[in-house]
Amino acid sequence: MTARTHDVAAITALALVAVTHPAPALTLSTILAALLANQVGGIAPDIDQPTAPLWRNLPVGKLFGKVFDTLIGGHRFISHSLLGAVLFGLLANAVLHFLQPVLGNIDISIVWWAFMIGLFSHLIMDTCTKEGVPWLLPIPVKFGIPPLKRLRVTTGKWQETFLVLPALVAIDIWLFASYYIPLMHYLHHQLMR
Ligand SMILES: [Zn+2]
Repeated sequence: MTARTHDVAAITALALVAVTHPAPALTLSTILAALLANQVGGIAPDIDQPTAPLWRNLPVGKLFGKVFDTLIGGHRFISHSLLGAVLFGLLANAVLHFLQPVLGNIDISIVWWAFMIGLFSHLIMDTCTKEGVPWLLPIPVKFGIPPLKRLRVTTGKWQETFLVLPALVAIDIWLFASYYIPLMHYLHHQLMR
């Protein structure tokens, strides 16, 4: 899937988890940090693409991207597996603990969960594409939903642009409309403090 679809999928997954779990009392800064971490998690597995947004934005990014790509085994390899998710999770945990002294009243466990939800939304979305995802690496088998390859989405093609992306946006609009009043109450309460 393209980076744009992954961004929308990450926020949709986060919103779905948020509305199906009893909300803890969160500060506004925790929510903003969680949204950012969710977006980073949503594109993190594609760090193995030399064209990944992260690499594209660095001056020598293209070269680094290529080196990194070779190191971790090419596109849709270790960063697209459960093993990769564990490694990303440990790394995110270490970074958040390192940054904790400057993060003030941000709840880093919520931020970590938001990152992981973004990450898993990425793997699930890529599982619906023709290439599939090697979930169980080092077992080199790529899994896909539905199992019949012909029925899966081709990255960047019409199914993604006209079916997957609009469906995700529709879920977001529906969630926003359904939870508009509690959301506004919450923001009002937070901003008035
Ligand atoms: Zn991917």
